[in-house]
Amino acid sequence: MGLLVVKNIGLLLTMSNRLAIADAVVVIKDGVIEWVGPSAEFDLDLYQDCTVIDADGGLVTPGLVECHTHLIFAGGRSDEFEARATGVPYAEIARRGGGIAKTVKATREASEDQLFELAVPRVYSFLAQGVTTVEAKSGYGLDFDSEMRLLNVAARLDKATPVDIVSTFLGAHSIPAEAKENRAAFVDDICDRWIPEVAQRQLAVFCDVFCESIAFSVDESRRILKAGLLAGLKPKIHAEQLARTGGALLAAELGAVSADHLDFASKQDAKALAEAGTVGVLLPGCAVSMCKPDFPDPKLLQAAGVKIALSTDYNPGSSVTLNLPLMGSFAMAFMGMSAMEVWEAITINAAAALDLQDFVGMVKPGYKGDLVIFRGADPVGPFYEYGGSKVAKVIKEGSVVVRRDPCGGVTI
Ligand SMILES: [Zn+2]
Repeated sequence: MGLLVVKNIGLLLTMSNRLAIADAVVVIKDGVIEWVGPSAEFDLDLYQDCTVIDADGGLVTPGLVECHTHLIFAGGRSDEFEARATGVPYAEIARRGGGIAKTVKATREASEDQLFELAVPRVYSFLAQGVTTVEAKSGYGLDFDSEMRLLNVAARLDKATPVDIVSTFLGAHSIPAEAKENRAAFVDDICDRWIPEVAQRQLAVFCDVFCESIAFSVDESRRILKAGLLAGLKPKIHAEQLARTGGALLAAELGAVSADHLDFASKQDAKALAEAGTVGVLLPGCAVSMCKPDFPDPKLLQAAGVKIALSTDYNPGSSVTLNLPLMGSFAMAFMGMSAMEVWEAITINAAAALDLQDFVGMVKPGYKGDLVIFRGADPVGPFYEYGGSKVAKVIKEGSVVVRRDPCGGVTI
Protein backbone atom coordinates (compact mmCIF):
# COMPACT_ATOMS: atom_id res chain seq x y z
CA MET A 1 0.00 0.00 0.00
CA GLY A 2 1.08 3.62 0.16
CA LEU A 3 1.76 6.00 -2.70
CA LEU A 4 2.99 5.07 -6.18
CA VAL A 5 3.78 7.67 -8.83
CA VAL A 6 4.16 6.49 -12.44
CA LYS A 7 5.98 9.22 -14.37
CA ASN A 8 7.47 9.70 -17.82
CA ILE A 9 4.48 8.05 -19.54
CA GLY A 10 4.92 8.63 -23.29
CA LEU A 11 1.21 8.10 -23.99
CA LEU A 12 -1.53 7.27 -21.50
CA LEU A 13 -4.70 5.63 -22.82
CA THR A 14 -7.17 6.41 -20.05
CA MET A 15 -10.01 4.56 -21.90
CA SER A 16 -12.36 7.23 -20.54
CA ASN A 17 -14.06 8.66 -23.66
CA ARG A 18 -10.96 7.69 -25.67
CA LEU A 19 -8.92 10.37 -23.84
CA ALA A 20 -5.21 9.88 -24.52
CA ILE A 21 -2.66 12.05 -22.66
CA ALA A 22 0.90 12.52 -23.91
CA ASP A 23 3.70 12.95 -21.33
CA ALA A 24 1.43 11.88 -18.46
CA VAL A 25 1.67 10.99 -14.77
CA VAL A 26 -0.55 8.64 -12.73
CA VAL A 27 -0.68 8.58 -8.93
CA ILE A 28 -2.01 5.53 -7.08
CA LYS A 29 -2.82 5.79 -3.37
CA ASP A 30 -3.52 2.68 -1.28
CA GLY A 31 -4.25 0.67 -4.43
CA VAL A 32 -6.67 3.17 -5.96
CA ILE A 33 -6.00 5.75 -8.70
CA GLU A 34 -5.76 9.18 -7.09
CA TRP A 35 -4.57 11.55 -9.82
CA VAL A 36 -4.18 11.41 -13.62
CA GLY A 37 -2.89 14.19 -15.86
CA PRO A 38 -0.10 15.73 -17.96
CA SER A 39 3.29 16.00 -16.26
CA ALA A 40 3.19 19.82 -16.66
CA GLU A 41 0.33 19.88 -14.13
CA PHE A 42 1.92 17.42 -11.72
CA ASP A 43 3.64 18.56 -8.52
CA LEU A 44 5.81 15.84 -6.99
CA ASP A 45 6.32 17.97 -3.87
CA LEU A 46 2.71 17.22 -2.93
CA TYR A 47 3.54 13.53 -2.59
CA GLN A 48 5.94 12.72 0.24
CA ASP A 49 7.35 9.20 0.77
CA CYS A 50 6.12 7.88 -2.55
CA THR A 51 7.57 5.16 -4.76
CA VAL A 52 8.34 6.51 -8.24
CA ILE A 53 8.18 4.27 -11.31
CA ASP A 54 9.68 5.54 -14.58
CA ALA A 55 7.57 4.39 -17.55
CA ASP A 56 10.54 5.22 -19.80
CA GLY A 57 8.37 7.05 -22.35
CA GLY A 58 6.22 3.98 -22.92
CA LEU A 59 2.53 3.42 -23.47
CA VAL A 60 0.39 2.99 -20.35
CA THR A 61 -3.09 1.45 -20.32
CA PRO A 62 -5.47 0.15 -17.67
CA GLY A 63 -4.79 -3.43 -16.54
CA LEU A 64 -6.30 -5.65 -19.23
CA VAL A 65 -9.53 -7.52 -18.51
CA GLU A 66 -9.99 -11.13 -19.72
CA CYS A 67 -13.75 -11.70 -19.60
CA HIS A 68 -14.28 -15.30 -20.82
CA THR A 69 -12.11 -18.29 -19.92
CA HIS A 70 -12.48 -21.96 -19.06
CA LEU A 71 -9.38 -21.65 -16.90
CA ILE A 72 -9.57 -24.71 -14.68
CA PHE A 73 -9.30 -28.24 -16.11
CA ALA A 74 -6.97 -31.21 -16.37
CA GLY A 75 -5.59 -32.95 -19.45
CA GLY A 76 -4.94 -31.71 -22.98
CA ARG A 77 -6.29 -32.29 -26.49
CA SER A 78 -3.40 -31.44 -28.81
CA ASP A 79 -4.15 -34.62 -30.79
CA GLU A 80 -7.50 -33.13 -31.80
CA PHE A 81 -5.81 -29.93 -32.98
CA GLU A 82 -3.55 -31.92 -35.25
CA ALA A 83 -6.48 -34.05 -36.45
CA ARG A 84 -8.45 -30.91 -37.39
CA ALA A 85 -5.37 -29.36 -39.01
CA THR A 86 -4.99 -32.41 -41.23
CA GLY A 87 -8.68 -32.61 -42.17
CA VAL A 88 -10.04 -35.37 -39.90
CA PRO A 89 -13.85 -34.82 -39.60
CA TYR A 90 -15.39 -33.84 -36.24
CA ALA A 91 -17.44 -37.06 -36.06
CA GLU A 92 -14.24 -39.11 -36.31
CA ILE A 93 -12.56 -37.03 -33.56
CA ALA A 94 -15.64 -37.61 -31.34
CA ARG A 95 -15.54 -41.35 -32.16
CA ARG A 96 -11.92 -41.45 -30.95
CA GLY A 97 -13.18 -40.15 -27.58
CA GLY A 98 -12.28 -36.48 -28.07
CA GLY A 99 -14.20 -33.31 -27.33
CA ILE A 100 -15.42 -31.91 -24.00
CA ALA A 101 -16.03 -35.46 -22.66
CA LYS A 102 -12.27 -36.11 -22.67
CA THR A 103 -11.56 -33.01 -20.57
CA VAL A 104 -14.46 -33.84 -18.22
CA LYS A 105 -12.99 -37.30 -17.61
CA ALA A 106 -9.50 -35.96 -16.85
CA THR A 107 -10.91 -33.15 -14.68
CA ARG A 108 -13.10 -35.48 -12.62
CA GLU A 109 -10.07 -37.66 -11.94
CA ALA A 110 -7.97 -34.71 -10.70
CA SER A 111 -7.91 -33.56 -7.06
CA GLU A 112 -8.64 -29.97 -6.07
CA ASP A 113 -4.94 -29.43 -5.35
CA GLN A 114 -3.94 -30.84 -8.74
CA LEU A 115 -6.44 -28.57 -10.52
CA PHE A 116 -5.11 -25.60 -8.53
CA GLU A 117 -1.48 -26.40 -9.42
CA LEU A 118 -2.40 -26.69 -13.11
CA ALA A 119 -4.23 -23.35 -13.11
CA VAL A 120 -1.67 -21.19 -11.25
CA PRO A 121 0.80 -20.87 -14.18
CA ARG A 122 -2.10 -20.08 -16.52
CA VAL A 123 -3.07 -17.14 -14.30
CA TYR A 124 0.53 -15.89 -14.27
CA SER A 125 0.74 -16.22 -18.06
CA PHE A 126 -2.25 -13.91 -18.34
CA LEU A 127 -0.69 -11.53 -15.81
CA ALA A 128 2.62 -11.44 -17.70
CA GLN A 129 0.65 -10.24 -20.75
CA GLY A 130 -0.86 -7.36 -18.74
CA VAL A 131 -4.11 -9.01 -17.64
CA THR A 132 -5.08 -8.07 -14.08
CA THR A 133 -8.68 -9.39 -14.03
CA VAL A 134 -9.63 -12.86 -15.30
CA GLU A 135 -13.06 -14.46 -15.48
CA ALA A 136 -13.01 -18.24 -14.86
CA LYS A 137 -15.88 -20.60 -15.65
CA SER A 138 -16.55 -24.01 -14.16
CA GLY A 139 -18.01 -26.56 -16.57
CA TYR A 140 -15.56 -29.46 -16.90
CA GLY A 141 -16.94 -31.23 -13.82
CA LEU A 142 -20.59 -31.66 -14.84
CA ASP A 143 -21.42 -33.41 -11.59
CA PHE A 144 -22.14 -31.60 -8.35
CA ASP A 145 -18.93 -32.42 -6.48
CA SER A 146 -16.63 -31.79 -9.44
CA GLU A 147 -18.28 -28.46 -10.25
CA MET A 148 -17.90 -27.35 -6.61
CA ARG A 149 -14.23 -28.38 -6.75
CA LEU A 150 -13.66 -26.16 -9.82
CA LEU A 151 -15.38 -23.20 -8.16
CA ASN A 152 -13.30 -23.73 -5.01
CA VAL A 153 -10.15 -23.63 -7.14
CA ALA A 154 -11.27 -20.30 -8.66
CA ALA A 155 -11.71 -18.86 -5.16
CA ARG A 156 -8.24 -20.13 -4.15
CA LEU A 157 -6.64 -18.62 -7.29
CA ASP A 158 -8.19 -15.26 -6.42
CA LYS A 159 -6.53 -15.35 -2.99
CA ALA A 160 -3.20 -16.91 -4.03
CA THR A 161 -2.31 -14.72 -7.05
CA PRO A 162 -2.24 -10.95 -7.65
CA VAL A 163 -4.93 -11.37 -10.35
CA ASP A 164 -8.61 -10.76 -9.56
CA ILE A 165 -10.48 -13.95 -10.49
CA VAL A 166 -14.18 -13.49 -11.29
CA SER A 167 -16.03 -16.77 -10.96
CA THR A 168 -18.80 -18.03 -13.27
CA PHE A 169 -20.87 -21.16 -12.76
CA LEU A 170 -21.17 -23.07 -16.06
CA GLY A 171 -22.64 -26.36 -14.86
CA ALA A 172 -24.69 -26.23 -18.07
CA HIS A 173 -21.65 -26.55 -20.34
CA SER A 174 -22.56 -29.93 -21.81
CA ILE A 175 -24.79 -32.91 -21.04
CA PRO A 176 -22.53 -35.55 -19.44
CA ALA A 177 -22.73 -39.11 -20.82
CA GLU A 178 -24.52 -40.45 -17.73
CA ALA A 179 -27.32 -37.85 -18.12
CA LYS A 180 -27.92 -38.24 -21.88
CA GLU A 181 -30.96 -40.51 -21.34
CA ASN A 182 -32.61 -38.08 -18.94
CA ARG A 183 -31.57 -34.53 -19.72
CA ALA A 184 -34.67 -33.03 -18.08
CA ALA A 185 -33.58 -34.46 -14.73
CA PHE A 186 -30.07 -33.05 -15.29
CA VAL A 187 -31.47 -29.55 -15.93
CA ASP A 188 -33.75 -29.91 -12.88
CA ASP A 189 -30.75 -30.82 -10.76
CA ILE A 190 -28.77 -27.79 -11.96
CA CYS A 191 -31.69 -25.44 -11.26
CA ASP A 192 -32.99 -26.90 -8.02
CA ARG A 193 -29.81 -28.09 -6.28
CA TRP A 194 -26.55 -26.88 -7.84
CA ILE A 195 -27.39 -23.21 -8.42
CA PRO A 196 -28.84 -22.54 -4.93
CA GLU A 197 -25.77 -24.23 -3.40
CA VAL A 198 -23.32 -22.21 -5.54
CA ALA A 199 -25.09 -19.00 -4.55
CA GLN A 200 -25.33 -19.93 -0.90
CA ARG A 201 -21.59 -20.71 -0.75
CA GLN A 202 -20.89 -17.46 -2.69
CA LEU A 203 -18.79 -19.39 -5.19
CA ALA A 204 -19.83 -17.48 -8.34
CA VAL A 205 -20.95 -14.06 -9.51
CA PHE A 206 -22.38 -15.22 -12.84
CA CYS A 207 -24.41 -18.12 -14.20
CA ASP A 208 -23.58 -19.09 -17.79
CA VAL A 209 -25.04 -21.67 -20.18
CA PHE A 210 -23.88 -23.16 -23.49
CA CYS A 211 -26.95 -22.53 -25.66
CA GLU A 212 -26.41 -24.52 -28.88
CA SER A 213 -28.05 -27.37 -30.75
CA ILE A 214 -25.32 -29.71 -29.41
CA ALA A 215 -25.79 -28.52 -25.80
CA PHE A 216 -28.78 -26.72 -24.20
CA SER A 217 -31.92 -25.47 -25.98
CA VAL A 218 -33.22 -21.93 -25.61
CA ASP A 219 -35.98 -23.16 -23.26
CA GLU A 220 -33.50 -25.11 -21.11
CA SER A 221 -31.13 -22.13 -21.10
CA ARG A 222 -33.93 -19.78 -20.06
CA ARG A 223 -34.82 -22.05 -17.16
CA ILE A 224 -31.22 -22.32 -15.97
CA LEU A 225 -30.47 -18.59 -16.26
CA LYS A 226 -33.73 -17.70 -14.50
CA ALA A 227 -32.84 -20.07 -11.66
CA GLY A 228 -29.49 -18.27 -11.52
CA LEU A 229 -31.17 -14.85 -11.40
CA LEU A 230 -33.48 -16.03 -8.62
CA ALA A 231 -30.40 -17.07 -6.60
CA GLY A 232 -28.61 -13.77 -7.32
CA LEU A 233 -26.27 -14.99 -10.11
CA LYS A 234 -26.12 -12.59 -13.06
CA PRO A 235 -26.71 -14.17 -16.50
CA LYS A 236 -24.15 -14.75 -19.25
CA ILE A 237 -24.62 -16.97 -22.28
CA HIS A 238 -22.65 -18.80 -24.99
CA ALA A 239 -24.80 -17.93 -28.01
CA GLU A 240 -24.90 -18.30 -31.81
CA GLN A 241 -21.44 -19.93 -32.05
CA LEU A 242 -22.17 -22.85 -34.37
CA ALA A 243 -25.55 -21.75 -35.74
CA ARG A 244 -28.28 -19.20 -34.99
CA THR A 245 -30.41 -20.80 -32.28
CA GLY A 246 -31.96 -17.82 -30.44
CA GLY A 247 -29.46 -17.48 -27.57
CA ALA A 248 -28.80 -13.81 -28.31
CA LEU A 249 -32.51 -12.92 -28.10
CA LEU A 250 -32.69 -14.86 -24.84
CA ALA A 251 -29.73 -12.82 -23.53
CA ALA A 252 -31.61 -9.61 -24.36
CA GLU A 253 -34.86 -10.94 -22.85
CA LEU A 254 -33.13 -11.68 -19.54
CA GLY A 255 -30.90 -8.60 -19.56
CA ALA A 256 -27.77 -10.77 -19.62
CA VAL A 257 -24.51 -9.01 -18.80
CA SER A 258 -22.89 -10.52 -21.89
CA ALA A 259 -23.62 -12.74 -24.87
CA ASP A 260 -20.51 -14.53 -26.04
CA HIS A 261 -19.35 -15.87 -29.47
CA LEU A 262 -22.19 -14.42 -31.67
CA ASP A 263 -20.62 -15.73 -34.89
CA PHE A 264 -24.09 -16.30 -36.37
CA ALA A 265 -25.91 -13.34 -34.76
CA SER A 266 -28.40 -11.50 -37.00
CA LYS A 267 -29.29 -7.82 -37.35
CA GLN A 268 -32.35 -8.46 -35.17
CA ASP A 269 -30.09 -10.04 -32.50
CA ALA A 270 -27.73 -7.06 -32.62
CA LYS A 271 -30.60 -4.59 -32.14
CA ALA A 272 -32.00 -6.56 -29.20
CA LEU A 273 -28.57 -6.83 -27.51
CA ALA A 274 -27.96 -3.10 -27.94
CA GLU A 275 -31.35 -2.23 -26.42
CA ALA A 276 -30.73 -4.56 -23.48
CA GLY A 277 -27.21 -3.16 -22.89
CA THR A 278 -25.78 -6.69 -23.23
CA VAL A 279 -22.06 -6.70 -24.13
CA GLY A 280 -21.08 -8.80 -27.17
CA VAL A 281 -17.95 -10.85 -26.42
CA LEU A 282 -16.10 -11.98 -29.55
CA LEU A 283 -13.59 -14.84 -29.40
CA PRO A 284 -11.23 -14.89 -32.40
CA GLY A 285 -8.95 -17.58 -30.94
CA CYS A 286 -11.60 -20.19 -31.76
CA ALA A 287 -11.06 -19.74 -35.49
CA VAL A 288 -7.38 -20.60 -35.07
CA SER A 289 -7.78 -23.60 -32.76
CA MET A 290 -10.64 -24.92 -34.92
CA CYS A 291 -8.39 -24.60 -38.00
CA LYS A 292 -11.06 -22.59 -39.85
CA PRO A 293 -10.71 -19.01 -41.10
CA ASP A 294 -14.17 -18.10 -39.74
CA PHE A 295 -13.67 -15.04 -37.54
CA PRO A 296 -16.63 -13.33 -35.84
CA ASP A 297 -17.77 -10.08 -37.49
CA PRO A 298 -18.00 -7.06 -35.18
CA LYS A 299 -19.50 -4.70 -37.82
CA LEU A 300 -23.13 -5.85 -37.51
CA LEU A 301 -23.01 -5.53 -33.72
CA GLN A 302 -21.16 -2.22 -33.74
CA ALA A 303 -23.64 -0.75 -36.25
CA ALA A 304 -26.49 -1.55 -33.84
CA GLY A 305 -24.59 0.01 -30.93
CA VAL A 306 -23.51 -3.17 -29.10
CA LYS A 307 -20.40 -2.78 -26.95
CA ILE A 308 -17.77 -5.25 -28.17
CA ALA A 309 -15.35 -7.08 -25.88
CA LEU A 310 -12.60 -9.45 -27.00
CA SER A 311 -11.42 -12.49 -25.09
CA THR A 312 -9.23 -15.57 -25.52
CA ASP A 313 -11.98 -18.08 -24.54
CA TYR A 314 -9.01 -20.00 -23.11
CA ASN A 315 -9.97 -23.71 -23.02
CA PRO A 316 -8.26 -26.99 -23.97
CA GLY A 317 -10.43 -27.67 -27.03
CA SER A 318 -11.52 -24.73 -29.14
CA SER A 319 -9.11 -21.94 -28.08
CA VAL A 320 -5.82 -22.75 -26.44
CA THR A 321 -4.16 -19.40 -25.86
CA LEU A 322 -3.39 -17.27 -22.80
CA ASN A 323 -2.36 -14.28 -24.92
CA LEU A 324 -5.09 -11.61 -24.84
CA PRO A 325 -3.15 -8.97 -26.85
CA LEU A 326 -2.81 -11.59 -29.61
CA MET A 327 -6.62 -11.60 -29.86
CA GLY A 328 -6.25 -7.87 -30.58
CA SER A 329 -3.87 -8.69 -33.44
CA PHE A 330 -6.40 -11.18 -34.86
CA ALA A 331 -9.23 -8.64 -34.45
CA MET A 332 -7.23 -6.09 -36.44
CA ALA A 333 -6.00 -8.54 -39.09
CA PHE A 334 -9.18 -10.55 -39.65
CA MET A 335 -12.11 -8.60 -38.16
CA GLY A 336 -11.44 -5.06 -39.36
CA MET A 337 -11.10 -3.50 -35.91
CA SER A 338 -8.96 -0.42 -35.21
CA ALA A 339 -6.35 -0.40 -32.43
CA MET A 340 -8.54 1.92 -30.31
CA GLU A 341 -11.53 -0.41 -30.76
CA VAL A 342 -9.34 -3.29 -29.60
CA TRP A 343 -8.13 -1.37 -26.54
CA GLU A 344 -11.75 -0.68 -25.59
CA ALA A 345 -12.60 -4.34 -26.19
CA ILE A 346 -9.93 -5.60 -23.76
CA THR A 347 -10.31 -2.91 -21.09
CA ILE A 348 -13.52 -0.98 -20.43
CA ASN A 349 -15.87 -3.13 -22.56
CA ALA A 350 -14.44 -6.34 -21.11
CA ALA A 351 -14.97 -4.81 -17.66
CA ALA A 352 -18.60 -4.15 -18.66
CA ALA A 353 -18.89 -7.82 -19.69
CA LEU A 354 -18.10 -8.59 -16.02
CA ASP A 355 -20.27 -5.75 -14.66
CA LEU A 356 -17.08 -4.17 -13.28
CA GLN A 357 -17.07 -1.04 -15.46
CA ASP A 358 -17.15 1.24 -12.41
CA PHE A 359 -14.03 -0.33 -10.88
CA VAL A 360 -11.59 -1.52 -13.59
CA GLY A 361 -10.83 -0.92 -17.27
CA MET A 362 -10.12 2.84 -17.04
CA VAL A 363 -7.30 4.99 -15.69
CA LYS A 364 -9.41 7.43 -13.75
CA PRO A 365 -9.51 8.60 -10.10
CA GLY A 366 -11.45 6.11 -7.99
CA TYR A 367 -10.64 3.12 -10.23
CA LYS A 368 -8.38 0.26 -9.13
CA GLY A 369 -4.69 1.06 -9.49
CA ASP A 370 -4.15 -1.59 -12.20
CA LEU A 371 -1.83 -0.44 -15.02
CA VAL A 372 0.26 -1.92 -17.83
CA ILE A 373 3.43 -0.21 -19.02
CA PHE A 374 4.38 -1.20 -22.58
CA ARG A 375 7.69 -0.56 -24.33
CA GLY A 376 7.37 2.31 -26.82
CA ALA A 377 4.56 4.88 -26.92
CA ASP A 378 2.92 3.52 -30.11
CA PRO A 379 -0.68 2.49 -29.27
CA VAL A 380 -0.72 0.07 -32.25
CA GLY A 381 2.59 -1.56 -31.26
CA PRO A 382 1.30 -4.29 -28.90
CA PHE A 383 -0.96 -5.65 -31.70
CA TYR A 384 1.32 -4.87 -34.65
CA GLU A 385 4.08 -7.04 -33.14
CA TYR A 386 1.83 -10.03 -32.71
CA GLY A 387 2.47 -13.14 -30.69
CA GLY A 388 5.22 -11.75 -28.45
CA SER A 389 4.93 -9.17 -25.73
CA LYS A 390 5.75 -5.49 -25.42
CA VAL A 391 4.84 -5.45 -21.72
CA ALA A 392 7.55 -3.82 -19.58
CA LYS A 393 5.75 -3.77 -16.20
CA VAL A 394 2.37 -4.67 -14.75
CA ILE A 395 1.04 -2.80 -11.73
CA LYS A 396 -1.74 -4.37 -9.65
CA GLU A 397 -3.46 -2.13 -7.11
CA GLY A 398 -0.41 0.09 -6.80
CA SER A 399 2.26 -2.65 -6.62
CA VAL A 400 4.62 -3.68 -9.43
CA VAL A 401 3.86 -7.39 -9.92
CA VAL A 402 5.56 -8.10 -13.28
CA ARG A 403 8.85 -6.86 -14.70
CA ARG A 404 9.89 -7.98 -18.19
CA ASP A 405 13.38 -7.30 -19.38
CA PRO A 406 13.85 -6.34 -23.06
CA CYS A 407 15.14 -9.84 -23.87
CA GLY A 408 11.87 -11.40 -22.74
CA GLY A 409 12.81 -12.50 -19.20
CA VAL A 410 9.91 -12.16 -16.79
CA THR A 411 10.10 -11.51 -13.04
CA ILE A 412 6.90 -11.91 -11.10
ZN1 LIG B 1 -16.52 -20.42 -23.75
